[in-house]
Amino acid sequence: MVNLELSEEQSAVRQLARDFVEREITPHVVAWDRAEEVDRGIVKKLGDVGFLGLTIDEEYGGSGGDHLAYCLVTEELGRGDSSVRGIVSVSLGLVAKTVAAWGSEEQKRRWLPGLTSGAAVGCFGLTEPGTGSDAGNLATRAVRDGDDYVLNGTKMFITNGTWADVVLLFARSTDAPGHKGVSAFLVPTDTPGLTRRTIHGKLGLRGQATAELVLEDVRIPASALLGEEGKGFSIAMSALAKGRMSVAAGCVGIAQAALDAAVRYAGEREQFGKTIAHHQLVQELLSDIALDVDAARLLTWRVADLIDRGRPFAVESSKAKLFASEAAVRAANNALQVFGGYGYIDEYPAGKLLRDARVMTLYEGTSQIQKLVIGRALTGVSAF
Ligand code: FAD
Repeated sequence: MVNLELSEEQSAVRQLARDFVEREITPHVVAWDRAEEVDRGIVKKLGDVGFLGLTIDEEYGGSGGDHLAYCLVTEELGRGDSSVRGIVSVSLGLVAKTVAAWGSEEQKRRWLPGLTSGAAVGCFGLTEPGTGSDAGNLATRAVRDGDDYVLNGTKMFITNGTWADVVLLFARSTDAPGHKGVSAFLVPTDTPGLTRRTIHGKLGLRGQATAELVLEDVRIPASALLGEEGKGFSIAMSALAKGRMSVAAGCVGIAQAALDAAVRYAGEREQFGKTIAHHQLVQELLSDIALDVDAARLLTWRVADLIDRGRPFAVESSKAKLFASEAAVRAANNALQVFGGYGYIDEYPAGKLLRDARVMTLYEGTSQIQKLVIGRALTGVSAF
């Protein structure tokens, strides 16, 4: 059954997100981007309005809702500022939702109320200086010592890294080959031995706190293990399968923002005695953006629908992420073209949309990695 009509609740949550973006984000977007820092107070505001608790049970402080509602909110946040969208996609999407899915009762009670209210921030520590796409080959070690584990290693490009109160960290804890030796841990970031360095000079997502985390003899109790020992890589992959839907929804938001801005500008800017909307080649640019918006949105909503119906969704999520991220780059680039020279300065939105979109084809699995996931599903052959 195909039903593209939003329910009343879904429409209401989308409107709530639109109003939130207009009130709390849009007025600050340029300043945050120039300052390379989003105002941290936004986290509490996101929590107060329920956006950090979507799909999480109310029992643990969540605000419920289905995955389509989560996509709608993510899209609106992405339309406003991808730096803010990323805070939610990681703290809720990759960390809280993973704790909710795999955590013990004690872990859920300890971390979820803070993460869903915005009192705490989570980050996801998988990538290392030597392992990105080949994440299962990671080198960070967790050595069992009595009732504790002792962690050593370095994590790279960690979104929310310097803000986070807890890192969902992946480390090799047994000598089992490849990713089978990887386990997941919930590590409070104030644990002695854990240091963080902000990574500056990013092309986009400049407002976001991206960090390198260094762990030197970080001692945590065995109760910090999330799920079973040796299941860490599966946990990471299940988190990323849902995470890719959230990235895709953020990309729909970027493409929609590009469309809105380009259509508005085309109706105002005059060249050759008429607004540029009258020129056929400008209409072609606008039409290409509109098509990318619709196609990306439909692929993304399909993933949400599959998750909500309890159906397999991982490959569809890779397709949505692959298409939507490439579409967001195209859409922002086309919008920049519509703005002409004004697109190249940050008083106009297209340049930032393009800079922010570019990373979406890289993180949570590059476009090449998504193609390998899709290719494996089609052929049964792993070409990684
Ligand atoms: P590499 O893996 O070295 O890839 C380099 C190139 O080789 C790419 O083009 C890739 O597609 C290609 N390639 C690699 N293997 C293959 C193959 N088998 N076949 C074909 N092509 C291949 N990580 C986290 O853990 N947590 C985060 O919160 C996080 N946030 C990030 C935020 C930002 C702003 C950035 C830039 C990165 C973030 N990352 C995070 C890391 C991100 O997920 C990695 O950068 C990404 O997975 C790619 O890894 P890499 O950079 O090491 O590139």
